[in-house]
Amino acid sequence: MIDDSSLTAEMEEEESPATTIVPREPPKIQRLEESVVNRIAAGEVIQRPVSAVKELVENSLDADSSSISVVVKDGGLKLIQVSDDGHGIRREDLPILCERHTTSKLTKFEDLFSLSSMGFRGEALASMTYVAHVTVTTITKGQIHGYRVSYRDGVMEHEPKACAAVKGTQIMVENLFYNMIARRKTLQNSADDYGKIVDLLSRMAIHHNKVSFSCRKHGAVKADVHSVVSPSRLDSIRSVYGVSVAKNLMKVEVSSCDSSGCTFDMEGFISNSNYVAKKTILVLFINDRLVECSALKRAIEIVYAATLPKASKPFVYMSINLPREHVDINIHPTKKEVSLLNQEIIIEMIQSEVEVKLRNANDTRTFQEQKVEYIQSTLTSQKSDSPVSQKPSGQKTQKVPVNKMVRTDSSDPAGRLHAFLQPKPQSLPYKVSSLSVVRSSVRQRRNPKETADLSSVQELIAGVDSCCHPGLLETVRNCTYVGMADDVFALVQYNTHLYLANVVNLSKELMYQQTLRRFAHFNAIQLSDPAPLSELILLALKEEDLDPGNDTKDDLKERIAEMNTELLKEKAEMLEEYFSVHIDSSANLSRLPVILDQYTPDMDRVPEFLLCLGNDVEWEDEKSCFQGVSAAIGNFYAMHPPLLPNPSGDGIQFYSKRGESSQEKSDLEGNVDMEDNLDQDLLSDAENAWAQREWSIQHVLFPSMRLFLKPPASMASNGTFVKVASLEKLYKIFERC
Ligand code: ADP
Ligand code: MG
Repeated sequence: MIDDSSLTAEMEEEESPATTIVPREPPKIQRLEESVVNRIAAGEVIQRPVSAVKELVENSLDADSSSISVVVKDGGLKLIQVSDDGHGIRREDLPILCERHTTSKLTKFEDLFSLSSMGFRGEALASMTYVAHVTVTTITKGQIHGYRVSYRDGVMEHEPKACAAVKGTQIMVENLFYNMIARRKTLQNSADDYGKIVDLLSRMAIHHNKVSFSCRKHGAVKADVHSVVSPSRLDSIRSVYGVSVAKNLMKVEVSSCDSSGCTFDMEGFISNSNYVAKKTILVLFINDRLVECSALKRAIEIVYAATLPKASKPFVYMSINLPREHVDINIHPTKKEVSLLNQEIIIEMIQSEVEVKLRNANDTRTFQEQKVEYIQSTLTSQKSDSPVSQKPSGQKTQKVPVNKMVRTDSSDPAGRLHAFLQPKPQSLPYKVSSLSVVRSSVRQRRNPKETADLSSVQELIAGVDSCCHPGLLETVRNCTYVGMADDVFALVQYNTHLYLANVVNLSKELMYQQTLRRFAHFNAIQLSDPAPLSELILLALKEEDLDPGNDTKDDLKERIAEMNTELLKEKAEMLEEYFSVHIDSSANLSRLPVILDQYTPDMDRVPEFLLCLGNDVEWEDEKSCFQGVSAAIGNFYAMHPPLLPNPSGDGIQFYSKRGESSQEKSDLEGNVDMEDNLDQDLLSDAENAWAQREWSIQHVLFPSMRLFLKPPASMASNGTFVKVASLEKLYKIFERC
């Protein structure tokens, strides 16, 4: 039992110390000394060296300069010197130049709404004089000499001295924060201030492309930013951020002028899928003012993360122009942030334009370089009568690991990819010819209007729609991929349920449906080395054969291969026109369709695909024919387990070195020196192939299924989706424990 009385006593005891506090007299309010006020204000406006540089450069821009150069010493703490060729400052204005709230840009409050200058508060120079030593040298047009004068705490230290001067103004800020010990110390310890200044000027330089900018460290010969006047924004981006950025940019434009008053226009450049970076760069100008907008930045980052399978952060340059009265620039002393009317709508419109642009950016694409060397190598070895079995049947394709995937640009379809081709391994006894796949920008359609109207295709698509299982559709749209449970099944979560989903069935169906939807509108994957049909088909026939090496059967196979080749040659025109499967006049396969962007099928399955086209398609009836070809393509592009056994499972045994003595083999079985006895090349091929597939399942298959797959009702009962657990039931079990 709890003793109530003791509890109350304890509580009282705890409260008692509070009663001893004697209320203070209200402190007296005093007026701060002006110098203190000014110093506090100065510390806000000039937070670090880069803020001083920004203010000085903006002043130079306001003075109509066409050339601005910045010199920095000691991260800006020792010296910031900004020189321009602008209109200069009149002699008679010099005495009040550095007083607070003296400006040539604003006379009455209303002017704020029609302002075209960067500055207007008349605070920047004044602030600098409270926290540094400021010297101004300036000359105005028509004068034979200029003036130089130094300032402290808002006032001139002496009368302006006549001096020689070149056109414009030069402002020197020395010993920044000399009287703010704490800030100076923190800044001294951080090495990145010069970097911030370079970054600032880089941003300024690409927007103000009619002004040349330079920025260098004091005493350095070479400038770290050096831009020249250029009529093209892309050129200035190239000269400041480099070719690697500029070549991967796409232009974006949005403008809106609606009755509800949301009027703006935006133009800019955004990076495409070839651009890779860890950090987002958003260079944003609103009404020519360099600002930051974290909401817009986040909105754009979301689009990139959702649209591009590679987790690259974007480079974005945007210039937004709005009616001046829709922008409040006066919400922050440094004008770093601005407040916009209709900000949400504007961000949303920009976001959706960026999304459209990225999705439609089929002109640049990621492709892995695939070496289909087995096609050549196996054939060569067969011709030279060396037994095929010497090579493990699985050693077929050299897959490229995800981290070595290369991107190719169709604006240069002639094979930029070749630059990335790996040198051919010298040790291989046979001639290895690399077959790379390059996406061609050529759209493979002739009469898009006509073909899209083909009723047989429409019927097939309608068939897909009508078989769709609403419950599965819901699951596919909203499920989360957890991981691969084995070679074929992925674990997915939907609400409180866990399912095993057969990725082979799902991907086959998805590819089939996409083939129908993209019918006659495919982009193409170009095989750089066209592959001979008859040899590929023969290879497929031999693979199928359980009793190889029988000569009479070989003859038969060759005849079947010839017949199938003839058949496909006959159908070549149709295959190309509707399916972008291109067979050239010498019966070589040279092009395949893009079914899912970002995805290239497993080239090991080309022979099987061709055999399937020859054998399984019913060519006479239009609808059955289209269905048959689409199904064959679906099967080819499906994400089957790679033909190489999975090295992370039992398949590791497969990679033991062939041709070892039986003694060595038995050692191997006893796990002695297992590592050394593995065929490392083959092993790494296999690891790559499996990793590549898993990456595609997660980053291509599942996102695409969410968007496009209409799961047929049959999938609910044929084992494609199997519910393995549900949280409610698990709870019940645990409750009993
Ligand atoms: P603001 O830019 O808000 O007017 P500043 O303190 O930055 O205030 O500058 C005060 C004034 O000094 C400006 O209004 C301008 O007339 C003059 N000024 C400053 N820098 C320059 C420059 N580089 N060239 C010409 N005039 C300048
Ligand atoms: Mg200013």
